Amino acid sequence: MNNKTIIYIAGDGHTGSTLLDIILGSRKQSFSAGELRFLAEKGVVNGEYCSCGVPVPECTLWKEIIEEWEKVMTLDWESYIRIQKVLKSNKKIFSARKLLNKQPEQIKNFIDDTEQLYSIIFSVTNSDTIIDSSKAPGMIPILKELKFNLSVIHLTRRFGDVWNSNKKRAKKDLEKGIEHDIVPKSTLKVLVNWFFINILTKYHTKGVECKHIKYEEYIDELKQTVSDIIPVDSEYEALLENRGPFMPAHLVAGNAIRRKGEQFVTKKPMNTSYSRLSSAEKVLARTIDWFY
Ligand SMILES: [Zn+2]
Repeated sequence: MNNKTIIYIAGDGHTGSTLLDIILGSRKQSFSAGELRFLAEKGVVNGEYCSCGVPVPECTLWKEIIEEWEKVMTLDWESYIRIQKVLKSNKKIFSARKLLNKQPEQIKNFIDDTEQLYSIIFSVTNSDTIIDSSKAPGMIPILKELKFNLSVIHLTRRFGDVWNSNKKRAKKDLEKGIEHDIVPKSTLKVLVNWFFINILTKYHTKGVECKHIKYEEYIDELKQTVSDIIPVDSEYEALLENRGPFMPAHLVAGNAIRRKGEQFVTKKPMNTSYSRLSSAEKVLARTIDWFY
């Protein structure tokens, strides 16, 4: 059995996945990759920023990984990105499943290339665990095809807080890690996503080792939650007890907190007052969250 593990954080956005990635990646033997599914598109092709402060192609670590990967890759970047989009689609899940089952040559090449990428990351970073917070449920069946142990964390957060967080506005600023203009989404879109992505994650994790973790619980019970996910030595235990500092090193994509340096985890979950919601919206949020 391979002793290398991919911890894949899956679920809806605005659930604290980048923070959890950074926390798990602060264990010495782990490597926190961020939203690794964007390495080719946002990192290599668009040259967006690594959390270390330089564009991914200029980051010493990713440069080495990308160079090693290019030596063994069978697909070109464009084909790799295109196939990944088809396979991880949230809409055409059955045709994606069919392609993965049949594995025509291009799909096989894609799987091989992806396996090579993870192998290279394990070797270059000298780690036994890669934390990948790509979130997209459609990546789970792809990762299942690889030779590594796969452990999925299905991360959820109260609907009201996800909605509240979705009301934020921000201008695109690649250097700050904001990958596009952030504008508030419609209520319907936030609600549909919240249900649909979580149901899809449930669907894709059938037969896969998976833990359901609530954002609220991991913040409250940080050390206990992390100990259930990953082996904890005394050094890491002290870090967890102290709630930080957790240092984002080379996260390739994800929430802008990855560009904000060392992180301490608050003792209580953030933004629980639904501050950006109107009175009527608060009623709806509380009603849904009553069932959460
Ligand atoms: Zn970097």
